[in-house]
Amino acid sequence: MAIKAYGAFAADKPLQAMDITRRAVGPHDVQIEIAYCGVCHSDLHTVRSEWEGTIFPCVPGHEIVGRVSAVGGQVSRFKEGEVVGVGCMVGSCKHCHACDEGLEQYCEHGFTGTYNAPIEDAPGYTLGGYSQRIVVNDNFVLKIRHPEEQLAAVAPLLCAGITTYSPLRHWNTGPGKKVGIVGIGGLGHMGVKLAHAMGAHTVAFTTSEAKRQDALDLGADEVVVSRNPEEMAKHAGSFDFILNTVAASHNLDVFTALLKRDGTLCLVGVPEHPHPAPTVGTLIFGRKAIAGSLIGGIAETQEMLDFCAEHGIVADIEMIDIAQIDEAYDRMQRSDVKYRFVIDSASLAKV
Ligand code: NAP
Ligand code: ZN
Repeated sequence: MAIKAYGAFAADKPLQAMDITRRAVGPHDVQIEIAYCGVCHSDLHTVRSEWEGTIFPCVPGHEIVGRVSAVGGQVSRFKEGEVVGVGCMVGSCKHCHACDEGLEQYCEHGFTGTYNAPIEDAPGYTLGGYSQRIVVNDNFVLKIRHPEEQLAAVAPLLCAGITTYSPLRHWNTGPGKKVGIVGIGGLGHMGVKLAHAMGAHTVAFTTSEAKRQDALDLGADEVVVSRNPEEMAKHAGSFDFILNTVAASHNLDVFTALLKRDGTLCLVGVPEHPHPAPTVGTLIFGRKAIAGSLIGGIAETQEMLDFCAEHGIVADIEMIDIAQIDEAYDRMQRSDVKYRFVIDSASLAKV
């Protein structure tokens, strides 16, 4: 049966309504009626072909929360009516070293992204969460334990939450650690909340003077406007870990200079154009590292959702109707969102 979706036919075209189909529910499948879908900067990078390899028509969306509407005969963990989530992955090989370790995002055969990834179902590649319904293998469906009234604000946890939680955990964020979060957007505002909840001394770096008070309200102990060299200099050589979520290319040296000996600057932003090459001397004199991190595995995503439910953590959101999506992209491009747009999927019925 055809369902409503919203997507782009080309990089230079606005998104528009389209009809798509989902596969019949197989033995291991969970069919979900989508209630909300967060809007990630990766959606914008993909739809506007800022990264190579977008397959059109493209239906983005990988921060999905909804209700189970059917399950396959072999599915025992989920039942009809239950509230569930789907993040950036809907499949992986499940037999390589990475998958064995629960690190499906690093699957040696390539994980299957929730959109823009090749699959056998029509039309031959995945279509994401800007749609009324999705059918997903039960291994890639997450339990949601937040109260019902928070569900829209839970959606962004499925990408922005896990993409910041995973590196914060991997680099042992906790009491006694000084942790920086660079770029207070969708990912960054979750990074601030999570680093604070993990007990680290959390410093928010923003280019936007207007976000100074907000960052404190989100849980930062200190805020630094990164365009201000004197403010930056006060923190030289003092950080254990800095998580950089910025979606545009910029000078990384100003952040490696703030690391302690053996500190790490972890990049999660994937800008359209490369960053200028970092200065090697700053890294060598201090055995500092620049690293990267990709979303998080399924087990860790569940751990993050449960951690957030336990600590009362959700995203700060602005709800939109699907018809406002292009305007939302333009505002996200200008860093003008507090702090994540979430699509009310009920609005798809009206297009
Ligand atoms: P977003 O909401 O647009 O936030 C990015 C933030 O970066 C902005 O709010 C802004 O914060 C800052 N910024 C933007 N342009 C800047 C510039 N020219 N110079 C300095 N700072 C700038 O985007 P998002 O959804 O959080 O995604 C961030 C990036 O992570 C994207 O590239 C996305 O594709 C990527 N991503 C990666 C993964 C992964 O697994 N690694 C997962 C999801 C997303 P301030 O106003 O505070 O400066
Ligand atoms: Zn994302």
